Amino acid sequence: MHSPIQLPETWQTLLSQTIESPEALIRYLQLPETILQDAHRASAEFTMRIPRPWLDRIEKGNLDDPLLRQVLPLGEELNEVAGFTQDPLEELHSNPVDGLIHKYKGRVLIILTGACAINCRYCFRRHFPYAENRLGPAQWQNIIDYISADKSITEVIFSGGDPLVSSDARIKQLIADLEQIPHLTRLRIHSRLPVVLPQRVTASLTSILQQTRLNVVTVIHSNHPQELDDQVATAIHHLRQANVTVLNQAVLLRGVNDSSDILAALSEKLFNIGVLPYYLFTFDPVKGAAHFDVPDTEAKQLMRQLQDRLPGYLVPRLAREIPGRGAKTLLFIDQD
Ligand code: SF4
Repeated sequence: MHSPIQLPETWQTLLSQTIESPEALIRYLQLPETILQDAHRASAEFTMRIPRPWLDRIEKGNLDDPLLRQVLPLGEELNEVAGFTQDPLEELHSNPVDGLIHKYKGRVLIILTGACAINCRYCFRRHFPYAENRLGPAQWQNIIDYISADKSITEVIFSGGDPLVSSDARIKQLIADLEQIPHLTRLRIHSRLPVVLPQRVTASLTSILQQTRLNVVTVIHSNHPQELDDQVATAIHHLRQANVTVLNQAVLLRGVNDSSDILAALSEKLFNIGVLPYYLFTFDPVKGAAHFDVPDTEAKQLMRQLQDRLPGYLVPRLAREIPGRGAKTLLFIDQD
């Protein structure tokens, strides 16, 4: 008798099976029950959401695992800390049309969806009013009209949430509409999915990205070398084969990557799989995540150590977004 053929799980199936209950997390990773009450309280404020391919890279029973720390709801999230707010980047002041953020000259950011495959506890958009920025057909037409009317806009950034949670059919249609605007030349996609759920980088997606006349850049988001397994390497390989430039942005997080050994290993591993380290962001002071904060003095010290041991092209730019400024603010330059 033939045994049934095992089909590979699709990204949609994996996405529908994310773990959202602290009990299930504790069972899956053999964690102590003592964390349960705090995990429930914190996830009532910001839902816990973790896909299985991410969980499988976490060491069982280790509460200090750097991948677990990024997703585990902790009691500290409920502490009120002065200076940590709901909208640390004041994005709601740069929201001229629903679903679109226009902060910087020449480029606009489109919130394709509020959904993510993973809920990162430090996310600066954890309080963003996604429901008010839902992208229906009318809103999309307003966005197309806004971009068409401003010839200075040459780049569109797909953001979210995570834009690659959208279906291929939707992404294909949105790109087709944007291609009709002659002054657009680049499409940037900010997504954590190639790292968190690398199965998302399907042949159908890469063929859409390869066929557009727009120059495509994907900025992935990886904070720790342990995130970059063989499946992530394969996903990046497919993106590069489709002529997509792949950059990484990381966030400097206490207890996750606040060491030059880890940051150097991250840069090396990224480069080995075809990704250039681009930005290392200092953490945005979002309410509920103060325990991840690393002071600027320490961040600059880490950059000095990185510069001493890596070639320049592997040293990410240490930056912060300061509300109201026309570009990211670099926090470290050679003379510092
Ligand atoms: S994937 Fe990005 S947008 Fe989604 S929760 Fe994580 S940091 Fe926030």
